[in-house]
Amino acid sequence: MTNKQQAVLPHVRGYKCTLCHQEFPYDAEMLTCPDCGEKGILDILYDYDEIRKNVSRESLAQDHTNSMWRYKAFLPLQDRDFSPFLRVGWTPLYESLRLGDELGLKKLYIKDDGLNPTASLKDRASAVAVAKAIELGYDTISCSSTGNAASSCAGNAARMGLKSVIFVPERAPEGKLAQMLIFGARVVSVIGNYKDTFDLSKMAIEKYGWFNRNAGINPVMTEGKKTVSLEIAEQLNWQPTDWVVLSVGDGCTVGGVYLGFYDLFQMGMIDRIPKILGVQSTGCSPFVDAGCECKPLVVTEENTLADSISVGVPRNVVKAQRAVAESGGQWVAVPDEEILAAMSLLGRTEGIYGEPAGVTGTAGIKAALAQGIIKPDETVTVIVTGNGLKDTKNALAAAGSSVKSKPNLEALEASGILD
Ligand SMILES: *Cc1c(COP(=O)(O)O)cnc(C)c1O
Ligand SMILES: [Zn+2]
Repeated sequence: MTNKQQAVLPHVRGYKCTLCHQEFPYDAEMLTCPDCGEKGILDILYDYDEIRKNVSRESLAQDHTNSMWRYKAFLPLQDRDFSPFLRVGWTPLYESLRLGDELGLKKLYIKDDGLNPTASLKDRASAVAVAKAIELGYDTISCSSTGNAASSCAGNAARMGLKSVIFVPERAPEGKLAQMLIFGARVVSVIGNYKDTFDLSKMAIEKYGWFNRNAGINPVMTEGKKTVSLEIAEQLNWQPTDWVVLSVGDGCTVGGVYLGFYDLFQMGMIDRIPKILGVQSTGCSPFVDAGCECKPLVVTEENTLADSISVGVPRNVVKAQRAVAESGGQWVAVPDEEILAAMSLLGRTEGIYGEPAGVTGTAGIKAALAQGIIKPDETVTVIVTGNGLKDTKNALAAAGSSVKSKPNLEALEASGILD
């Protein structure tokens, strides 16, 4: 399928299997450990001295690239002109004006990753996947997803002229389905759950030789997602908050969040790694159930309206558990009612519109404060991972309805809206 020699990446030392800890030379076509099979997800090892030759706090201060590509020195890619790509990353980090007070926190920052081009944090992974597929000479990229990874894969591929084949579970929200279809993807709605969807995509990718954007399999995905942490750190002037909070499904995002801070710590660019709070819905919480001792995960029902984190059989178990454990963080679960409440709370207090999984972190802060995990005087960054416009059905369930009025002032006053 590939028509090019693989580029030599001087800053990439190789792979290390997250299960058996064997090291291997870097090979972009090798996605998982040859001995452990599909569960043997790989870490990419870097030569930080090499990265240091190309990037520093000072060089970044002079860099006007307003996208995640300002951190290309940290990514397992051949250097190229990334300006033709969709503008992924460099999303705003807002200091909370009211939400922190409402939650009882002294200092809260909100990283709005719903403002990425296809409206979720997944764009960070898709951009790297598309770049890698181009580097290796593929013309088609494929993934299975609960929705956002798929629409993001489709959009980023469309911009760079790659074809995409997307597998989604039947229950994917319409907003996300519409997005991928508009981006010209070939979309398969799989009759089954996310696991069935993943399995079919795996078989098809193997058979037809497409580039594999499955986050649980391809180690470059977490690498793309780690740019959110590089941004948070730089936007906070290299003084990240005590906590970074986000929702967890497959575990790839939280794994990436940790890796970003880990890289910066290795580089000497930050002096500690924030504690990571991983948040799930009580309707599907395999990581929370396994706890901080990293017990093996038990297959869980997928019973939450937060579709993006409705993952009963997560793929990126080791990276996710390590992120929380090694950062000194915690896991919490919140019921769906709290997720819907957080959707309105975030919107009403800060003007930020998140989808259910996008605001699950916000709901988790409240739970973590109540459980004494986060202390009120600790500083917190919460990542909004996806935009609410993708899931109008749940937004309306959270927000209630408008009042009706005839077009005269008496009727308006009678409507109760002015009370
Ligand atoms: C994918 C996704 C997550 C969770 O990321 P995982 O890598 O699956 O853990 C959270 N929120 C949104 C909006 C997502 O799309
Ligand atoms: Zn292995």
